[in-house]
Amino acid sequence: MRFETLAVHAGGEPDPATAALAPPIHLSTTFEHGPASEKLGGHIYVRSSNPTQDRLEQALAALHGAAAALHFASGVAAASAVFQSLPPGSHSLIPRDVYYQVRVLASDYLPRWGQSATAVDMTDLAAVRAALRPETRLVWVETPSNPLLDVTDIAAVAGLARERGALTVVDDTFATPALQNPLELGADVAMHATTKGLGGHSDVQGGALVFRQAGERLEAARHAREILGAVASPFNSWLVLRGLRTLAVRVERQSRSALRVARALTAHAAVAAVHYPGLESHPGHAVAARQMRGGFGGLLSVRVRGGREAALRVAGALRLFVNATSLGGTESLVEHRRSAEGAASTAPDDLLRLSIGLEHEQDLIDDLAQALALA
Ligand SMILES: *Cc1c(COP(=O)(O)O)cnc(C)c1O
Repeated sequence: MRFETLAVHAGGEPDPATAALAPPIHLSTTFEHGPASEKLGGHIYVRSSNPTQDRLEQALAALHGAAAALHFASGVAAASAVFQSLPPGSHSLIPRDVYYQVRVLASDYLPRWGQSATAVDMTDLAAVRAALRPETRLVWVETPSNPLLDVTDIAAVAGLARERGALTVVDDTFATPALQNPLELGADVAMHATTKGLGGHSDVQGGALVFRQAGERLEAARHAREILGAVASPFNSWLVLRGLRTLAVRVERQSRSALRVARALTAHAAVAAVHYPGLESHPGHAVAARQMRGGFGGLLSVRVRGGREAALRVAGALRLFVNATSLGGTESLVEHRRSAEGAASTAPDDLLRLSIGLEHEQDLIDDLAQALALA
């Protein structure tokens, strides 16, 4: 079955008790069991598993052609579980341009867990090869990346990691599985902030790990979730499952609009650069075209001539784009990432990140034009 069809149907079997089409939300924290804790209906306690989460996890696995998926309380909880399930002494590679909180996780928490990480330009395969060490257990990829929209060749990096016995995990939040399936490209695990495009309506927080194979890695992450407790509520799993139903059409439309917005911005005199992998001028365009299908996503970054002050003037003058963090929702958002991140931010001062929603693209282009006139 094709992605669009799976997105509508996976995990959507009618409720066996009532034949309801919309899945029930099971809020029960506890499930009757036998006298020696025998499972009667497949579940014991909500922190371990629950029926609503099961449906979402089955759907996420199906959308990736994967063995299994785990849903967590947030994207960073899912990311943390990956590192928490590595042994002390492990070394990881992370991208130079990476979701800010993952960089902070690496700098502030890995040392406490007896681990270390090196930031590397993952668009440069020679740099990746040189940074791999005998104790490297994990290569963390993010493509397209936040906020520079760097594109990493997943198949090539996963190949280098595999040669050294290291795991490849890809943060696929920007692309979503509608556009890019890291597991098909050789990665071991796909990670998603389901808070973003999968939920799709800016009203739920969650994260997911999707495993190509069952086995030790999957069980180690499941153990970390159960013991460290970063579990999603059943209602949040339900909201993400609901979001999946429209994922393919939302992402298709957002990608189309983002490309048009990117092209319009490229031509603007007040714009120094546009980072969008769908533009032929993007250094990662060929790789993105090979490993993404049907579009390049709804995220782009624009560098405003005149630096920080000009960028902030533009952000403040936008009327339709809301100044807010997050991405992948129905409404278009703008954010000056350098202001949003923190002391360790490496986002350029003149950069605004745009998340393209479902408005008419001409309204978005008009809004950017009136704001850029004030740059
Ligand atoms: C938002 C985001 C995360 C973290 O997700 P949370 O739900 O906010 O914890 C991780 N990676 C990327 C690329 C994101 O955009």
